[in-house]
Amino acid sequence: MQDFDYIIIGGGCAGLSLAYSLEVNHKLRGKSLAIIEPREKYERDKSWSFWKTFEHGFDDCAKKSWTQFEIKTEKGTKSHSSSRYPYQCIDSGLFYEKILNTLKKNTNISFFKHKKDIGKNSSIIFNSVSDKQENNGKLWQHFQGYEIEVERDIFDDKILTLMDFNCDQKDSVHFFYLLPFSPKTALIETTWISRMDDARELNYSDQIHDYIKDVLKIGEYKINYSEIGKIPMFNTKNIKGDNIIQIGTAGGMTRLSTGYTFTNIQKQSSYIQKNIQSMNKLNNFSIRKKYQHLDNIFLSVLSNNSSKMIEVFYRMFGCKTDTIIKFLSEESTFSEDLAVIRSMPKKIFLSALVGK
Ligand SMILES: Cc1cc2nc3c(=O)[nH]c(=O)nc-3n(C[C@H](O)[C@H](O)[C@H](O)COP(=O)(O)OP(=O)(O)OC[C@H]3O[C@@H](n4cnc5c(N)ncnc54)[C@H](O)[C@@H]3O)c2cc1C
Repeated sequence: MQDFDYIIIGGGCAGLSLAYSLEVNHKLRGKSLAIIEPREKYERDKSWSFWKTFEHGFDDCAKKSWTQFEIKTEKGTKSHSSSRYPYQCIDSGLFYEKILNTLKKNTNISFFKHKKDIGKNSSIIFNSVSDKQENNGKLWQHFQGYEIEVERDIFDDKILTLMDFNCDQKDSVHFFYLLPFSPKTALIETTWISRMDDARELNYSDQIHDYIKDVLKIGEYKINYSEIGKIPMFNTKNIKGDNIIQIGTAGGMTRLSTGYTFTNIQKQSSYIQKNIQSMNKLNNFSIRKKYQHLDNIFLSVLSNNSSKMIEVFYRMFGCKTDTIIKFLSEESTFSEDLAVIRSMPKKIFLSALVGK
């Protein structure tokens, strides 16, 4: 059985991002890499969106970028505009294609379907697969989205709706997310933050259809694409061992309060490729402690006060545009952190802090 210098378990976003970063930065010269990925074929399965706060190298996989976004609540709409940090949506199909086309040119990179197909003696292993997660009362962000097409120009494709809270909350947090790709096409997602302890996820489809009909007032439309997912709002448990480095969601790259992961995966890949010679002796890349701490407080508030969360988001999005973006993208300064913290309702955040 063949042994490899490096093994990547899981050829999804993190596994492929790391392999690509190693390859284009010439870190695989004279080295062998095995990628273990069970899927039969790669096709678009996710739309990775985020505020672009740094060069990540995947602009050519973007479906669209926006400089304006808004959040909508019963109280009103908060609109924002930033040309410095556009909100970008990466098409995972284009991303997989770009990376695989590059990796296939290097004959030192091999693809396998199962771990049992390769030797693992003295390899450095990068693992992006979490142990199976039970729901057991933890918070998840769970959602389904349809990309729809209509015949007339209906969508304002200059502005995306980050959160529209004008929908049934069912004692948890629920909003619609709308990415208008063109005047005739948009991705519309029903998104919940809950413990997944009832059947909200069973009727995502009805929720989207009702929103399209009742809120967007669209009668006829065609569904061109669908995506479904759940993102843990807690740190996952993973296999441990010497020479095993966790990456991606399994490696703590998900910002627990928001689910944003794509940009952290790119930062982690860059960190690993720069330090590949000494990775088994170094600490892994992690989300900065201040954000981990603030997210824990935020999640504690969310767990105990789901009915107040619309107010929390509404206040937070009352901050300056670049302050919010930098805070949510882990690029904020101390004074920007303070501005976000000050915008929060004091009483519930103080009791969450004292309760810690
Ligand atoms: C539908 C969806 C939309 C998302 N949208 C956003 C977004 O807009 N912005 C954002 O920042 N984040 C988003 N996320 C969160 C996050 O960016 C993605 O989940 C991202 O794909 C995480 O990358 P990953 O490599 O950790 O996991 P994955 O991309 O899921 O990769 C894991 C890979 O491991 C493979 N695998 C599974 N079992 C095994 C096994 N036993 N052995 C080997 N391989 C295995 C899987 O087939 C998969 O290819 C989204 C998540 C989902 C599910």
